[in-house]
Amino acid sequence: MALGDLDAKGRHRRHAVRRMRRLDVLVVGAGPAGSTLAAGLARGGASVTIVEAATHPRPKVCAEYASPRIVEELDRLGMSGDWRSSAVPLNGMDLHAGVRLAPIRYADANGCRTAWGLDRRTFDAGLAEHASRSGAALREQTRLVSLIADGTRVRGARVRDARSGRDEVMRADWVVGADGARSTVSHLLGVDRGVRFPRRLGLVAHYSGVADLTDHGEMHAGRGFYVGLAPTPGGELNVGMALPMNDRRPAADRFAEAIARLPAVADRLRGSRRLTPIRGAAPIGHRVADSAGAGWLLVGDAAGFVDPFTGEGIHRALRSARAATDAILAGGDVASAYRAERRRAFAAKSALSWLVQGFLAAPAALEHVVGRLESRPGAALRLGSALGDLRPATDALSPRAVLEVLAP
Ligand SMILES: Cc1cc2nc3c(=O)[nH]c(=O)nc-3n(C[C@H](O)[C@H](O)[C@H](O)COP(=O)(O)OP(=O)(O)OC[C@H]3O[C@@H](n4cnc5c(N)ncnc54)[C@H](O)[C@@H]3O)c2cc1C
Repeated sequence: MALGDLDAKGRHRRHAVRRMRRLDVLVVGAGPAGSTLAAGLARGGASVTIVEAATHPRPKVCAEYASPRIVEELDRLGMSGDWRSSAVPLNGMDLHAGVRLAPIRYADANGCRTAWGLDRRTFDAGLAEHASRSGAALREQTRLVSLIADGTRVRGARVRDARSGRDEVMRADWVVGADGARSTVSHLLGVDRGVRFPRRLGLVAHYSGVADLTDHGEMHAGRGFYVGLAPTPGGELNVGMALPMNDRRPAADRFAEAIARLPAVADRLRGSRRLTPIRGAAPIGHRVADSAGAGWLLVGDAAGFVDPFTGEGIHRALRSARAATDAILAGGDVASAYRAERRRAFAAKSALSWLVQGFLAAPAALEHVVGRLESRPGAALRLGSALGDLRPATDALSPRAVLEVLAP
């Protein structure tokens, strides 16, 4: 059978394959999506290798505020309590817009639920370790450099070990891109679409904790930007922000300016100390034309990500990994089953997230909505629980629910 590398320009190059490994699934990237996918597949009996460009624990640009619903996803993988040492429970997020403040809280049929402030370095490392313990082979310092295709089907990948500099070809029934918002896999497949709106620069840094901000997070919306504060383990505070892209000043200047423009944030941070460098990602987000095809799937951010304001990145990474695990283990038309499950799981929540993005782009309208939520705790809880993946997003999108939030 003729094999060829599918390179970044979509050209095929024939090559001699010297070392070849045969797998059921090759997972590219050991972030939350890749590690949970690999753990689920290995637990289901598949032979799985994950290649990860970095070495855990590695930093990740993230505001580290995770949806309550990650608990169910991690329980399913047999992780029950292990991850909680890299997390603190948070009652919710206070949403500030202008002079308005609405508490976003969460509940399911059994009562109140908490979100989680994470330390991504240890959280992600713990997930990768769990994948290894579950039977997946984890190869760190190993980067995917090209896909191996045979006609129209992806058959494997060429990977490069950063320590030895050597390339290896790995054949697999399925290659899964879990390589994040700057996915090489989606780029090589030609399914990337540009991020047109919103185009934002994400900046994050850890600060020493703030004494009276330990049991919830805060989101402060400014004009064209926002800043989030989330307590993280070890008594630290994650200060994360999304700023317009059209400004070339140094990140540190822009970071300081955003804080200064929001007096409530500046007050919170007075006396607090920055503990880490300011890390950035731009543009925030990723768009793709498709999430599956012959021999390939994309999970987590590689399959698309809008913006962290509605807090679904990590949960969506875990949930999409579950959808991919189930589709691969069931066999049959894997790509169609995976696409259909993604639609079921994400379509309504995506519509809600885009609605929130619309308000974020119109500060006066956002302040009005936050004012309404402030005086209607029931509506705030319904919206929070939908954003926290605890009740269907359609509940927050019904005409009655929308009217309750919008009517003057
Ligand atoms: C500024 C900002 C703030 C955010 N805040 C939040 C938040 O508060 N809450 C939330 O839920 N989400 C948040 N997110 C989103 C969240 O970080 C992502 O949704 C989540 O990390 C997705 O997980 P993943 O496994 O898909 O990708 P990632 O976590 O990005 O992991 C991808 C992995 O792939 C590896 N990799 C990349 N290329 C290759 C390659 N060629 N070969 C091998 N390995 C490779 C990387 O090293 C990395 O380890 C935020 C994102 C940004 C940018």
